[in-house]
Amino acid sequence: MNVPREDGQNLNRNEIASAPKAGENSIHELMYIYNRMFEYFGSRSWWPGETIFEICVGAILTQSVSWKNVMKAIENLKRAGFLELESMYNASDEAIEQCIIPTMYYRMKTKKLKAFVGHIMQKYNGNLTKMFNKDMDSLRIELLGIYGIGPETADSIILYAAEKPAFVVDAYTRRIFSRLGIFSEDVTYDEMQDYFMKRLSPDVPLYNEYHALVTGIGNRFCSNKRPKCKECPLRERCFYPQGRE
Ligand code: SF4
Repeated sequence: MNVPREDGQNLNRNEIASAPKAGENSIHELMYIYNRMFEYFGSRSWWPGETIFEICVGAILTQSVSWKNVMKAIENLKRAGFLELESMYNASDEAIEQCIIPTMYYRMKTKKLKAFVGHIMQKYNGNLTKMFNKDMDSLRIELLGIYGIGPETADSIILYAAEKPAFVVDAYTRRIFSRLGIFSEDVTYDEMQDYFMKRLSPDVPLYNEYHALVTGIGNRFCSNKRPKCKECPLRERCFYPQGRE
């Protein structure tokens, strides 16, 4: 059986034979999965954003909505001159809402953005880098204390904006890794994150790429109802297609 790569080539026999067996829950297994994804996609250069503030805004806006819509909202904010901490802080709620309509729940998300910028303005005089200078655990606790910031958003900000090694997991991680037989479907966010962080060294570029690649698999192949297993680079290691084809 051949496993396709994005470049149209196939994995060779040795690569397929080296696939870890189910239950071999090791660093080797996680790195095998990483390598299959990386061979297919290459580097995904995630997270797109010209400034650390833009990355934070994207992390808040992307909750429950596609990245395509987030990009529209970011462009609107940019055009309106609100993609800077102080200008967003000074803008009216209505003006922000107008810009982020494409992200749905725009009223609630405006409150979240305002809570975030308000926190940085009041506690750090608008200096985001000052907050990011904290150690990772304190930074995470502080972010989680801001209205509207949950674990996934906090970890995205920590990893992609503050560049500290917090492994980001999400609904795609749960779906893909439960289909791979590694997690049960009811695994919690913290359990998933612990799983990766106990096995992979705290390496920002690795964590960055790993999450981006999982997102790539989720977007392109591993949909909820109709996963495209035949084309998926993880097929050789996945339980899900067995008996379904
Ligand atoms: S083989 Fe199918 S179920 Fe498994 S990760 Fe790929 S798309 Fe998802």
